[in-house]
Amino acid sequence: MERLLNKLIERNKYLTKYGKVADYIPALGNANPQDIGVCIMDIDGDIYTGGDYNKKFTIQSISKIISLMLAIMDKGEEEVFKKVGMEPTVEPFSSLYKLDLSHCEKPSNPMINSGAIVTTSLIEGKGEEKFNRLLKFMKKIILKDNLNYNKEVYLSEKETGYKNRAIAYLLKQKGLIEGNVENILDIYFKQCSIEVDCIDLAKIGIFIANKCKNPKSKEVLCDEKIASIIIPIMTTCGMYNFSGEYAINVGIPSKSGVAGGILAVVPGRYGIGVYGPALDGYGNSIVGYEILKDLSKELNLSIFK
Ligand code: GLN
Repeated sequence: MERLLNKLIERNKYLTKYGKVADYIPALGNANPQDIGVCIMDIDGDIYTGGDYNKKFTIQSISKIISLMLAIMDKGEEEVFKKVGMEPTVEPFSSLYKLDLSHCEKPSNPMINSGAIVTTSLIEGKGEEKFNRLLKFMKKIILKDNLNYNKEVYLSEKETGYKNRAIAYLLKQKGLIEGNVENILDIYFKQCSIEVDCIDLAKIGIFIANKCKNPKSKEVLCDEKIASIIIPIMTTCGMYNFSGEYAINVGIPSKSGVAGGILAVVPGRYGIGVYGPALDGYGNSIVGYEILKDLSKELNLSIFK
């Protein structure tokens, strides 16, 4: 397996020059566009790694999976989906224009920024408690105590997140979020800044692939039904407005983040974490996509085949 991972990294590394590191959050601009890492964890908890698998990066939009899980655990499926939809969208992840249309009742889905700001707001707890609960939940999933957020990235986004701020105030005006808007944004920016590596992503992936159970601890952290909501949402919305083509070419439920991470879930089989900060125009890791495409072919991982 590790030979395969390294072969795929070698085969695809030329692609990094066609991508661009995200710099609309200034601190993300410091990443090395040539970094590539992969980790696969199987259902027995065995780990296979390749390249820069232990490089740290911020989780960004992949955290949207975690906030969705917690929101459903806290408020129930019905309450959550009253305020956020479950439909894919052709708009980019940071779009707010549809939300401003009078007939648009709620964000299309929880994998775009507007939808994720809603799910974050639905996590139980006052102020900082929401974030602490999210971090604690992630620590339990990953079985890692020293997980934390990157202050520099958090402050960088907090200072420059004008568009997310506009989205959040629009959500407030439409009655889709309750409480103090700046506090909710603060939690959202912090959750996006949580530092992970490919192993951490693979562990979250296998937790979902294994119906919300860590294969090592076997501790049940949430109802397995949550996996059956998260997996289709990842499949249809996880790669933003590239989710359709991605489903055809890769066929693995996945979620990307703008720092270059992709988390992929092969139900009942594997959790996969890939890192490559050079992004394509959709905000997905350019080399991460190609590696997952190759891996899917080599190991027959598509859920559609
Ligand atoms: N923190 C980022 C933002 O809100 C997350 C976006 C992403 O990873 N696509 O813009």
